[in-house]
Amino acid sequence: MADLIAEEKIDQIRQAVDIVEVISDYVQLKKQGRNYFGLCPFHGESTPSFSVSPDKQIFHCFGCGAGGNVFSFLMELEGISFQEAAIKLAAKVNIDLGINIPSSKGGKKLSKELQAMLDAHELLRKFYHHLLVNTKEGQHALEYLLNRGFTQESIDKFQIGYSLNSWDFVYKFLTKRDFSPEWMEKAGLIIKRERDGTYFDRFRDRIMFPIFDRHGNTIAFSGRSLGPDEPKYLNSPETAIFNKSKILYNYHLAKPSIKKLQYAILFEGFADVIAADRAGVENGIATMGTALTDEHIALLRQNVQTITICYDSDKAGIEAAYRAGNHLQEAGFQIKVAMMTDGLDPDEYIQKNGTDKFRNEVIGASLTWMAFKFLYFRRGKNLQLEGDQLAYIEQIIKEISKLDKAVERDHYLRQLASEFSLSLEALKQQQKQIYFADKRKSNGLKEPAHKPLLVVKPAEELKPKYVTAERRLIAHMLKNREVVYKVQELLAGQTFNTDEHQAIITYLLGFFEDHTEPDTSAFLTYIQDDNLRRMVADIEMMSINDELTDQELTDYIKQVLNYQKLLKIKEKEVELKEVEREKDFSKAAVIANEINHLRKLL
Ligand SMILES: [Zn+2]
Repeated sequence: MADLIAEEKIDQIRQAVDIVEVISDYVQLKKQGRNYFGLCPFHGESTPSFSVSPDKQIFHCFGCGAGGNVFSFLMELEGISFQEAAIKLAAKVNIDLGINIPSSKGGKKLSKELQAMLDAHELLRKFYHHLLVNTKEGQHALEYLLNRGFTQESIDKFQIGYSLNSWDFVYKFLTKRDFSPEWMEKAGLIIKRERDGTYFDRFRDRIMFPIFDRHGNTIAFSGRSLGPDEPKYLNSPETAIFNKSKILYNYHLAKPSIKKLQYAILFEGFADVIAADRAGVENGIATMGTALTDEHIALLRQNVQTITICYDSDKAGIEAAYRAGNHLQEAGFQIKVAMMTDGLDPDEYIQKNGTDKFRNEVIGASLTWMAFKFLYFRRGKNLQLEGDQLAYIEQIIKEISKLDKAVERDHYLRQLASEFSLSLEALKQQQKQIYFADKRKSNGLKEPAHKPLLVVKPAEELKPKYVTAERRLIAHMLKNREVVYKVQELLAGQTFNTDEHQAIITYLLGFFEDHTEPDTSAFLTYIQDDNLRRMVADIEMMSINDELTDQELTDYIKQVLNYQKLLKIKEKEVELKEVEREKDFSKAAVIANEINHLRKLL
C-alpha cells in the first residue's frame, strides 16, 4: 500500500490540514504569542514545554525533543505509518484519495493472528448481545439486569450480553469459522485442558460486559455470575490485545463528553461507569481492576486537565482515592473528589437515592482536592484529644505548604485557625517553618505541581559557538533557497562539524532540486530520519531575524570553519607540552610557531 497515495495528494492534504486543529484533539493548547503551548503527549511533565507553530505547521517539545509536522505527530502518537496518517488526515479535510482503504479501526496494521483475535471478540460481542436481548436462553439474564436497574438503552450502549451455559459452545462457534484454537486460547476466550489437550469455554452462564480499546475494538470481556458462582466478575486474562495498564473502560464513548465538559470522572470499576451513565453522567471512565498507571495518565492527558475521582466511599475506596489523587496531582492534573454517604458505591447510591441526587449531590458537590484531604486526615482521629488534634493540624499544614498560591494557603490556614480557635499568625509561622524544612530536605529539587504557563527553553548560549552558528545557518537555509547555495560556496568543500547538521544540508540540497519555494512542513516529510526530523523542528523553533545579512553569514561561516582550526591548535598544544617535558627546545619552538600561525587564521 506504500505507493498508493500520490505525491500531489500528500501536498494537498498538507495544505488543507491545520496542525493546531489536529493536535488540539490530543493536547490542550493555549496561545502565547505566535505559537501554541501545552503539556507534551510524548513525555510526562507538569510544565508545558510542547509548542506548535501555526505559521510553520510544525510542533516541537523542548523537554524531550519530539518534533515534526502533522504527519509525524500522528505517526508517533498513534504508532501508525505515514500512509495511515495521510489517510486519517485526508478523511479529516474531506480529500478523496481515490484508493481502497482497509477498514480496521484505529489504523494500526496488525498481524494476521492479532486481527483474528480482534475479529473473534467482535463476533462474540455481537453474538452474546443477541443472546441476551433476543433469545429465550438469555431471558433470565436480561430479567436479572432489568431488576437491578439496568435499562434497555444502557444494555445496548454498552453492548452487554450473555454467554450460554455450555462447556464448548464458543469453542465450536469459533473453530467452525476457521479461527485457530491455539490463538483463541491466547486471546483468552477458551482454555486448554491439561489432561487431554482439548478446549473448553472460559465464560459460561455469565452476563458479558465487552471491554473496548480507545478505538472501539472489543479486546476482552468481563463476565458477571448470575448466582453465587465465584468469582463474581471473571475477566479475560492479559493478552496480546488486552493490556490492563493501558485500558480505561469507556474511554472511546466518553471522549466527546470529556472534551465538552473539560473533565473526566474516574470510577473504581466499570459497573460504576455504567450506573453513572444511566444518571446521564457520560464522561465516566474506569481502570480494569488495577491502580492508575502512567500509561493511563498519558492517555487522559491527551484530552483533559481536570479529573473528578468518584471511588467507593468505604475505607478501601477512600484510601484508593487518596493514592490516585496524589498520582494525578504529581502528573499536573487538577483534582476533585466526589463522595457518597454511608460508605456506598455509585451503583448502590443511585439505586437508593436516584439519578438526580447522584448528579447534583455527589458529582455536582465534588470536593476540592484540599478539602478532601481535610477529611482524609481526620479519619480515625478523635479531634477532642489534644494529641490527635495536634497531629491533624500538622498534617494539614504540611499539605497547605504544598500549595503554590498564597491566596489558597491563606484560605486554608484561616479555615484551620477558625476551626480550632488558633491564632492565624502562629499557624502562618508554623507553615513557613514546615515549608522551608521541606525545601531543605528535598534540596530544592522538587518542583511544585502547578506552575504558571512558563516554557523552559535550554539557553542557546550553552551550546558551543560553532553549533549555534550551524543551527542558525540551517534556520536561514530552511527559509531561503539562495542561502543554501551561498553557504555551500563559502564552505568551499568543507563540511559542518556536526554530522547531523551536515546530513540536514544534504537533504536540503536534494529538496530544493525539485521544490523552488521553502516549506518546512513539506521538508519534514521529505526527511527519512526521525532524529533529523526532530532536529529540524527544534531549529525551526529558534527565533532568528528574517533577513540574513552578509556580515552575519560570513561570521557564522567563520565560526564553523574555526572549529576545525581550534581542534588543530589544541592538538598542537598537547604536542608542545610533550616536547617541553622532554626538553626538546628546538622542536618546541617550531610547534609554537605553528600554533601562532594557526591562531592568526582564526
Ligand atoms: Zn516532550
